[in-house]
Amino acid sequence: MPASLEQRRELVTAIPGPRSQELMARKHAAVAQGIGTTLPVFAIEAGGGIVKDVDGNSFIDLGSGIAVTTIGNSAPRVVDAVREQVAAFTHTCFMVTPYEGYVAVAEALNRLTPGDHEKRSALFNSGAEAVENAIKIARAHTKRQAVVVFDHAYHGRTNLTMAMTAKSMPYKSGFGPFAPEIYRAPLSYPYRDAKAMDGHLAARRAIDVIEKQVGADNLAAVVIEPIQGEGGFIVPADGFLAAIVDWCTANGVVFIADEVQTGFARTGAMFACDREGIVPDVIVTAKGIAGGLPLSAVTGRADIMDASHVSGLGGTYGGNPLSCAAALATIETIEAEGLVERAQQVERLMLDALHRLQADDDRLGDVRGRGAMIAVELVKSGTDEPDADLAKAVATAAHRAGVIVLTCGTYGNVLRFLPPLAISDELLTEGLEVLTRAFTEVQP
Ligand SMILES: *Cc1c(COP(=O)(O)O)cnc(C)c1O
Repeated sequence: MPASLEQRRELVTAIPGPRSQELMARKHAAVAQGIGTTLPVFAIEAGGGIVKDVDGNSFIDLGSGIAVTTIGNSAPRVVDAVREQVAAFTHTCFMVTPYEGYVAVAEALNRLTPGDHEKRSALFNSGAEAVENAIKIARAHTKRQAVVVFDHAYHGRTNLTMAMTAKSMPYKSGFGPFAPEIYRAPLSYPYRDAKAMDGHLAARRAIDVIEKQVGADNLAAVVIEPIQGEGGFIVPADGFLAAIVDWCTANGVVFIADEVQTGFARTGAMFACDREGIVPDVIVTAKGIAGGLPLSAVTGRADIMDASHVSGLGGTYGGNPLSCAAALATIETIEAEGLVERAQQVERLMLDALHRLQADDDRLGDVRGRGAMIAVELVKSGTDEPDADLAKAVATAAHRAGVIVLTCGTYGNVLRFLPPLAISDELLTEGLEVLTRAFTEVQP
């Protein structure tokens, strides 16, 4: 992290400060309004558990740029590796004259992702682009077209992935027509399902929909986030994912785990599938993969991945040398610094604090998540009715007090916490204290 960056929350102006307000005015005049902003402050430096703004305010980071800077911003190994690479060459296009970094990232992904079968990987730029490619590969392999996704799913904003994403506003509304052959099945959502709906019954419910409305013979792939991200950090009931995997295997359907948000130590395992004990046929990764540089990947069984004809996959920038150098440095950092274990510590610390808060405040309907991917689902007191206004008010109060928190969920009523694993326990605890005060401030 930048050496000058003190690991301390400090507000020196009102939020937003004057410099941020100036920049925001320029943003409004120059940037399309479709590109929204969560906090009205402009960053100038970030690292460890802190994001500093242009007015000199320092925020505790409980967002990691949406689960990207898991190992911390400007992590030392990433800075060194990228610096060295940028001076050597910035781009040749892997499809023109290949380079070792790309191959080394593919080898690392093949080694680290769940399952010890023979694998292949392909690299791209964004999560959505990787999801699209996973589907191209599954269709080429199965010679089938249909794709099943789930309620509350988020898979991206490109045309195919918009169709796969569940939520209309803001992701899809007005942007159709959407890609065909995408079907939606019910998810296991323990907080909102009936009590009797365990993982096996929820899987049966989903499989019924798939069999009756799609038909296994037409189905190329089932795509699921093992823990849903934008959808509200929904952890399916035990046994749900394993039953879906088994059904896919029995029916020749490619099971694709979208681990774009959950991957790379985020959930207290290298991948969320590991903690579920499931082995996906294909796994899609991005976000936390390269310490903040844009990179994504599709990794899977060699026979599936090799189904595409030569030159059927690719892209100008996919697996850019800088991103590959950053990914190798990121993986080294996770392994050398024991960040999987660190994510488990973060889970204990956050769940303890949030369960204590929940004990005194029934507006915290559900506390859930794994590792450094924890959320609270907010409801109107004494009910299970989603309270999006409360989520927004608490998030805004936290921002004003110098803590970056994000919201999510189909109903917009989930506060999600994605701290970088480079954050100290002190900052994390302080962030949660600020949040607790925000709940006290925001009363109906
Ligand atoms: C963010 C995300 C995507 C899309 O990734 P982009 O890099 O924004 O295209 C896809 N799937 C999941 C689960 C995500 O969280």
